[in-house]
Amino acid sequence: MPHNNNHPAGQPTLVYADANGNISDFPLLHMAGMSSGQFLLPKKEDFIPLPEGSELFVLPGRLPVGLDPDSGEPLLLEDNPHKPGELIQAVSAFMSPAHTAIFNSAYQTQENAPHLPLFAYTAVGWYDDRFWTTAFRCDVDVRQDSSQFNQTVINSKTQKKLKQHKNNRLIQHLGKCCLTYACPAARNYFLGRWEAPLPTSPTCNARCVGCISLQSSGKCSATQDRMRFVPTPAEIAEIAIPHLQQAEQAIVSFGQGCEGEPLLQADTIEQAITLIRRKTDRGTINLNSNASLPQAIKRLSAAGLDSLRVSLNSAQLSYHTGYYRPQKFSLPDVLESIRVMKESGGFVSLNYFILPGVTDSVEEYTALRHLLHTYQPDRIQLRNLNIDPEWYLRCIKFHTSSPSMGMKQWLEDIKKEFPKLQFGYYNPVIR
Ligand code: SF4
Repeated sequence: MPHNNNHPAGQPTLVYADANGNISDFPLLHMAGMSSGQFLLPKKEDFIPLPEGSELFVLPGRLPVGLDPDSGEPLLLEDNPHKPGELIQAVSAFMSPAHTAIFNSAYQTQENAPHLPLFAYTAVGWYDDRFWTTAFRCDVDVRQDSSQFNQTVINSKTQKKLKQHKNNRLIQHLGKCCLTYACPAARNYFLGRWEAPLPTSPTCNARCVGCISLQSSGKCSATQDRMRFVPTPAEIAEIAIPHLQQAEQAIVSFGQGCEGEPLLQADTIEQAITLIRRKTDRGTINLNSNASLPQAIKRLSAAGLDSLRVSLNSAQLSYHTGYYRPQKFSLPDVLESIRVMKESGGFVSLNYFILPGVTDSVEEYTALRHLLHTYQPDRIQLRNLNIDPEWYLRCIKFHTSSPSMGMKQWLEDIKKEFPKLQFGYYNPVIR
């Protein structure tokens, strides 16, 4: 799959939406990018065509900010240039998987504006009759590309498996994830390929500000319902064994968006892994986790866990605490889990939440370098943080002493300093 890295010949211009959500371009202003509240002019090489499968969002209560082509000054577009006085709204891109943001969309939030829901808001503009966004493809793997999914095939294969496994609550649960939420991992399970999900936990020992399965903030809604039961080791094994035995590039992953923290079900997962590895040693058994319980990691690794993906918004204690709101654990426990998994020969990925302006801030870059030197994870998954950026900055009390490096410069410097470190978006096949 070639990287679609062609760049625009000229500078994309601002786009805005009218009161009904119809999107237009405004050629008199260059599109701006936002990086922790700073309005910046993206370079041409920062742009790619809006990837297939991406969505365009209209941002309520937010006015678009563009840049004067001559002075470079940030300018606010306050109303509809075609209908003076009519309300307009800013626009952003929610990119398809495997793409990492370089800038957030640029806007000014109006008083009493609602919180934005739990998505990532990447800058988007218009040039040469198409939309351009500021991003790069960070993984060539096509496992969640929209082009890989045929709804008719998904429906028939899912219905067939649901009929065959009426008594398996977990398969029935994944049926809802597949047909209602269009979860790519659940779809791939029913299509019998690549990475399949194994959610297990209705509970969690964190209270993440941006939790997508349980939102008590009342400020925005969760994007999917959290599961309400703990599957049995047998229900889990009934999914995992045939998938690992037969699927191409087979991976099964504990820790999904529709559950709490899987480590709270370590007993069940340990028994399930034992059942699975008794039947097959093919494929990869992975755990996506907040990595809060190093002793549980030790047990699961001994049982046969191949890889651990540690979700992390920041390598700085105050920001980690501010986002995860952890219950009886903290960042040092997470780092200890990485050490334990590496010590037992396991593979460790960081599911590193990317937010331009924070990720590439000098303080965060320094903290991450220290973590990488000390704990030596094998891979960084460059996942955009799905949250209202301004709310997030307030929640973690973000501050920085100097302008951000720029996401492209950040990536280049990290790659140079850590040449063995892998970069991507997905969990890799370990065996
Ligand atoms: S660790 Fe996961 S399930 Fe727990 S609060 Fe955070 S996002 Fe939600």
